[in-house]
Amino acid sequence: MQGLENLRLRLKNACESVDRNATEVRLLAVGKKHPASRLRELYDQGQRGFGENQLQEARQKQLELADLDIEWHFIGHIQSNKSSTLARYFDWVQSVDRVKVLNSLSAHRPGSLAPLNICLQINIDREEQKSGLLPEQVAAMAKLASGLPGIRLRGLMALPRISIVAAETSRSFAAVKAIYDELCEQGFDLDTLSMGMSSDLESAVEQGSTMVRVGTDLFGPRP
Ligand SMILES: *Cc1c(COP(=O)(O)O)cnc(C)c1O
Repeated sequence: MQGLENLRLRLKNACESVDRNATEVRLLAVGKKHPASRLRELYDQGQRGFGENQLQEARQKQLELADLDIEWHFIGHIQSNKSSTLARYFDWVQSVDRVKVLNSLSAHRPGSLAPLNICLQINIDREEQKSGLLPEQVAAMAKLASGLPGIRLRGLMALPRISIVAAETSRSFAAVKAIYDELCEQGFDLDTLSMGMSSDLESAVEQGSTMVRVGTDLFGPRP
């Protein structure tokens, strides 16, 4: 089942089944590979947060949808020479995983804009080919991010290993949540745990996600 109404209901059910309030979990609509017109349809139904993983594609959509009050999230791999563009044109960057990128985002965030919201991406399953900080690197990056102008550290983002074994994914989500809780205990003022996608949002919600990023089950398969 696809579409915003179905997804909202699914998210509400996921929250209720683990005694969470549906208002605790935001839905980010991931429109990658879908045309701007599809994003506009969702906007007209009340969706405000949209995520993209390719800068060029995102910029094109931003131009086409410039009349809308969208909150834009970048969720893809960041090339450091592109971080100045990200700092100018996005509200959130969820995939920060290197000091160089962090410094560049801070340096290039225009003073006329609110601080850039960021999440640190964590490679929770230590996958070789995957972006993200290793768990033991997160605290130092959080400390660095908290001291930089033009940046507001909001939390963590994770993409666990793709597994058909639900218990494995659930364990990965729980491990991300443990790191998140530890940071909060250390005094970082965080409110965002971005985890869960079309196939595993129930598990992510159960493990404490505050933002699910959904593409396929909103827009259908990517063309
Ligand atoms: C594509 C993507 C999603 C959405 O995935 P679906 O399975 O289509 O819901 C979520 N997060 C990231 C980082 C993505 O690249």
